[in-house]
Amino acid sequence: MLIVQKYGGTSVGDAGRIKNVARRVVNKYREGHQMMVVVSAMGDTTDDLIKLAREITNNPSPREMDMLMSTGEQVSIALLAIAIKSLGPDVVSLTGPQAGIKTESIHSRARITDIDNSRLIAELEAGKIIVVAGFQGLCDSGDITTLGRGGSDTTAVALAAAVKADMCEIYTDVDGVYTTDPRVVPDARKLDSITYDEMLELAHLGAAVLHPRAVECAKIYNIPLHVRCSFNDNPGTIVKEECDMEKNLIVTGVTCNKNVAKLGIFGVPDQPGVAYMVFKMLADRNISVDMIVQSSMRDGVNDISFTVSQDELRKSLETIEEIIKVVGATGYTHNAHVAMVSVVGAGMNGNPGVAAMTFGALADEEINIDMISTSDIKISCIIKNGEAEKAMNVLHRRFALAEATNCNCCA
Ligand code: ADP
Ligand code: ASP
Ligand code: MG
Repeated sequence: MLIVQKYGGTSVGDAGRIKNVARRVVNKYREGHQMMVVVSAMGDTTDDLIKLAREITNNPSPREMDMLMSTGEQVSIALLAIAIKSLGPDVVSLTGPQAGIKTESIHSRARITDIDNSRLIAELEAGKIIVVAGFQGLCDSGDITTLGRGGSDTTAVALAAAVKADMCEIYTDVDGVYTTDPRVVPDARKLDSITYDEMLELAHLGAAVLHPRAVECAKIYNIPLHVRCSFNDNPGTIVKEECDMEKNLIVTGVTCNKNVAKLGIFGVPDQPGVAYMVFKMLADRNISVDMIVQSSMRDGVNDISFTVSQDELRKSLETIEEIIKVVGATGYTHNAHVAMVSVVGAGMNGNPGVAAMTFGALADEEINIDMISTSDIKISCIIKNGEAEKAMNVLHRRFALAEATNCNCCA
């Protein structure tokens, strides 16, 4: 079999852990499999590199940030290749560009556009284990790009598609995908399997265990993902198209995203084309907007609130100053101390009462809801950042997610 494995930052956090990963990879290789391994930067390296740049300036160049951040993964591939070689097998480490990964010309969150697999195939045919740096690629101008925080998962899945791997395993520091973050809710339950669509929603809404674009890519190329722990041999979670066990559940999981900031524009004239102008100006600056709420019109003006990721708050505030002048709004506000908690489940479509249960659970804990957004398979609420953990625990309890046989129905 041709197996792609990905090991995250904690799994390669120090020399001992890198040796542990090397042993796991070599054991598989000695069973007769072809092995391609993707690694993240060691431990908190990426955060530390970002902090270092911020000590120099608050507004570093995106190109140089990608140059800087990509070094973290380069350290890991070299060390893992050294560890594998010391156990015997032939091995080669490759950066993203050396592995043929091409991306869009956008820094800090580029999408993979193509993979030239010729070098990968040649090295595998030569019998080598390949170790590839996650999270990075090369854009048309020849510059290094990165794929967004947590993007090594996407590297692994894209490579698995490019070499038509038989299996893609994502090794991390928990045993699989849980009903919610097991580090926040102690009685979170591990799921044996989950569908691509549900996983995609969980990942988009903050479940860091998988990068959303990794799930998107796995769904498009129909690659089952096996999420497992690098520190034991426990069975993990399979992410795939169909899921027999859990498919009738109304709610599959609870997530939280703390990388959220809320902005509000007051006194926006109530005229056709104004919302277009506001969000076009944000889009033109590459700012990705999530939740949008427009309050009902009073005296010919509206208030428009929306959320962005905290990393884009500074750029958003600069843009709002311009927006206010262009559309003739009266003022604006922002709050960086918010979080978005969400209840997710494919079965909630057509099941009345999930919203009421969600709001009731938050009300019982006196948690105030600032903004609400819903879709067929999720309900998201913006709340105070400091209340996020309490909210996750109460929602997990209210929907009985700790119980394997729960049907968490509201009837
Ligand atoms: P890696 O460095 O291996 O990529 P991440 O930190 O990116 O690891 O992702 C794993 C973490 O995701 C876990 O330690 C856990 O705290 C968090 N997490 C959040 N939501 C979930 C969930 N629903 N199931 C499992 N882990 C989750
Ligand atoms: N090292 C990068 C990060 O910390 C990518 C990854 O770990 O997937 O976001
Ligand atoms: Mg990750």
